[in-house]
Amino acid sequence: MTLPVRDDLVGKKPYGAPQLPEAIQLNVNENPYPPSAALVADLARAVSEAGASLNRYPDREALGLRLDLAAYLTRVTGVALSVEQVWAANGSNEVLQQVCQAFGGPGRVALGFEPSYSMHPLLAAGTNTGWVAEHRAADFTLSLEVAVAAVRRHQPAITFLTTPNNPTGTVTALDVVTAVCEASTGVVVVDEAYAEFGGTVSAVTLLDAHPRLLVSRTMSKAFAGAGLRLGYLAASAEVVDALRLVRLPYHLSALTQTAARVALAHTDELLGTVEAVKAQRDRMVAGIGALGLTVVPTAANFLLFGPFEQPAQVWQQLLDRGVLVRDVSSGPGLAGWLRVNAGTEDETSAFLAALAELA
Ligand SMILES: *Cc1c(COP(=O)(O)O)cnc(C)c1O
Repeated sequence: MTLPVRDDLVGKKPYGAPQLPEAIQLNVNENPYPPSAALVADLARAVSEAGASLNRYPDREALGLRLDLAAYLTRVTGVALSVEQVWAANGSNEVLQQVCQAFGGPGRVALGFEPSYSMHPLLAAGTNTGWVAEHRAADFTLSLEVAVAAVRRHQPAITFLTTPNNPTGTVTALDVVTAVCEASTGVVVVDEAYAEFGGTVSAVTLLDAHPRLLVSRTMSKAFAGAGLRLGYLAASAEVVDALRLVRLPYHLSALTQTAARVALAHTDELLGTVEAVKAQRDRMVAGIGALGLTVVPTAANFLLFGPFEQPAQVWQQLLDRGVLVRDVSSGPGLAGWLRVNAGTEDETSAFLAALAELA
C-alpha cells in the first residue's frame, strides 16, 4: 500500500535514539541524577491540587510559568526580562518547531553549521522549510568569517547557532552571534540547551541590541527534567507574539505547567548536580585520553570521542558490556566519532572500564 505522505517526507527517517532501560544509558545527554524525595513530594502535592481543576483548560498563556522562567533567566544572566519576552512549550524541540512554523515555511530556508543538532534539519523538513548546511572547521569550531559568509550567501529566514554545540561540545563565542545577527535579515536562534554546563555568557545578554535574536533553552539537561518536556525561549515581545500565532491552543497542559513550576522552585537543588556531572565528564575526558583516543574539547555534559575505523562495532561492543553510547558517526562530518554523556560516578566508571577492555 502506498500512503499519500507528503512528497518531501518520503525517504526521511524519524529521530530515533535507542531507548534500552536495561543498559547504562549514556546516549541522550540526560542528567543522571533523579529528583530528590523532597522535590517528588512537592510535585505530588502540587499535581494533586492541579488535578482538582482538570475539567478546565489550562492557562493558555502559561503566565505563571513564564514569569518563573523569566525570573530564572534574569537570575543567571543578569538581564531583566519581562514575561512577554519569554515563551515556553513542550520541550525546546516544540519551541524550535514553532519558530520554524512562524518564521520558516515554503520558499524560505533555515541555515545550520554541521555537525550540529540533528533535530534542526528535521524540524525544518517537517515545516516545509528549506535546509542549507555549512560546515564547521575540522576541529568543529565555527569562525565568524565562515558564519557571516554563509548568512550572506544563503539569506536564511532562520539561522541556527548551537552553543555548546551538540554533538561536539564546542562553544561559539558571542562575537560570532553578534556578527551573524548583524548580517541577518531573518531570525537567529541560539540553541543554549547545555548553557548551564558551559559557564559562558549567555546570548540572552545580546537580546536588547538584536530584536531578531532568539535564545532557546530547556529543562531537559542541566535541570534534570528530560521527562518533564519543558523548553523555553527568550526573545523580543514581537517574536513571542509571532509564536503565539502558530502554537496550538492550550499546548502546555496544566500538569506540565505545575510540574515545571515546582522544578523551578527547586532550581538550586537541580542545578546543584551540575558540578558533579562536570566532574564525571572530566573523568571521562582524562580516561578516554589515557587510552590514546581523541576527545573533542567540550563545555557540555557530553563529549565526542574517537575517531574509530569501525564506530558501529565499538558502539555494539560497549553495549555488549552494558553501556549505551550514541553512534553519531553517520551524521554529516562525524565519520568515526561516538558521543557519550557523563553519568553518575558508577556509570562513568563502568563506561571507562568497558572502553578500556576494547583498547
Ligand atoms: C537536548 C537538546 C535539546 C532539548 O530538547 P528538549 O525538546 O528540550 O528535550 C535542544 N537542543 C539541543 C541542541 C539539544 O541537544
